Amino acid sequence: SLSPPTVAFSDQFARALPELAVPWQAEETPEPRLLRLNEPLAADLGIDPAWLRGREGTRLLVGAHVPDGATPVAQAYAGHQFGNYSPRLGDGRALLLGELAHPDGPRDLHLKGSGRTPFARGGDGLAAVGPMLREYVVSEAMHALGIPTTRSLAVVATGRTIQREERLPGAVLARVASSHLRVGSFQYARATDDVDLLRRLADFAIARHYPAVADAEHRHLALFEAVVSAQASLVARWMLVGFIHGVMNTDNMTISGETIDYGPCAFMDAYDPATVYSSIDRGARYAYGNQPRVAEWNLARLAESLLPLLADDQDEAIALAVSALGAFGPQYDAAWTAGALTKLGLPADDSATPLVHDLHTLLQANHVDHTTFHRHLSSAARGAPEPARALFLDLPAIDAWLTRWRALSPDADAMDRVNPVYIPRNHLVEEALAAATEGDQTPLDRLLDAVTHPFTERPGLDRYASPAPEDFAARYQTFCGT
Ligand code: AMP
Ligand code: MG
Ligand code: MG
Repeated sequence: SLSPPTVAFSDQFARALPELAVPWQAEETPEPRLLRLNEPLAADLGIDPAWLRGREGTRLLVGAHVPDGATPVAQAYAGHQFGNYSPRLGDGRALLLGELAHPDGPRDLHLKGSGRTPFARGGDGLAAVGPMLREYVVSEAMHALGIPTTRSLAVVATGRTIQREERLPGAVLARVASSHLRVGSFQYARATDDVDLLRRLADFAIARHYPAVADAEHRHLALFEAVVSAQASLVARWMLVGFIHGVMNTDNMTISGETIDYGPCAFMDAYDPATVYSSIDRGARYAYGNQPRVAEWNLARLAESLLPLLADDQDEAIALAVSALGAFGPQYDAAWTAGALTKLGLPADDSATPLVHDLHTLLQANHVDHTTFHRHLSSAARGAPEPARALFLDLPAIDAWLTRWRALSPDADAMDRVNPVYIPRNHLVEEALAAATEGDQTPLDRLLDAVTHPFTERPGLDRYASPAPEDFAARYQTFCGT
């Protein structure tokens, strides 16, 4: 395309927080080839999709073309990985190109797989086509489900072959987020002992994400309270759709409350709090049912990082942080319970809470697919209980539950608005990625079509609404997406 780039970057992060921003260049890309472009997202960002499809636009998406105003940087952060603290993680294979103006506030454009940076340690700085497409499809599915998340703008094949267990085609993911500030960003700033840096970081986070607290009497405490609320709400949303993040390290938890870093994530099939898919999560730290507790643990690490800003007296600072963190449990419980009742077509009402808990006991005992059950249940609200009932072995138990539930007059249409038909089921994702890695994107096209309109049942997509074959589900593992 001949139209000039309309991509106007700012470098707000790099200017405000140079201590956390290492100016860097992407590695050369032999033969960039656009595999996937999110045209609606490009348009939403004010970038001409036709330009992105052209040579210069595609070079932008791999970091080879750096437009005026952009200062690509690798961001520094620390983090607890599976409970172990690393003082220096940072973007080992990613770059923040800069921010784009957007009516809802600046949007980071970030490249993942763009080559080694000073934070690469032993890594090659690269990413493979399969995992980058995986992030693309799962993050876009999450967005379509209404769950706060980073977005995926594009995946570009680099033409480079990378070495994993096998040789794989390389790719760069262009990711969009309201920021890439993480709990680990605060851990890093705190560890420098530079309270001015910590304060600038906190104030940057307030300006970017929580401007309403800028004038609060105690704005840094208010920032922490806002992050606690955002994460309580986010993790409740994950739980309600059966999403397992898989690697909830503190460097993979945002300050904005957006889901970030789709590595070994997966959607749960049969309801079971102990579900773990990630091959690296041997201690089941990040099991489905542990996610709220882990989020709270991570927020405690954020609180520790913020202590110098909360009060001059350390005991007073700790008391404030502990009290604010105490809101997580009640806020999470309230969000989850309200959401669970909505999934059952019921208004928020404390008297129905035992019904919710009894259902989850039944789902677990009967190994019932979480997504399929909730979607089929609206038929039961319309007087056709069989599709939901057929998922259970213990019929007297589910019949007794259905009778109690029907007595509360559930709203079937409301249920269909919140219970998805289509989620990125693990077997479908794997099938689509395998085909795409071989050069056939048709299965990925179909899967994306299904999961980006998750609540609208459509003919011809039955496969996309069905649980995995049992032998697949039993042995499914995700590998740390690289
Ligand atoms: P993750 O758990 O994927 O969020 O990554 C944890 C850390 O490892 C981050 O600092 C990443 O930048 C870094 N990292 C992951 N993969 C690579 C790679 N292939 N090369 C360099 N750094 C990497
Ligand atoms: Mg990460
Ligand atoms: Mg990752």
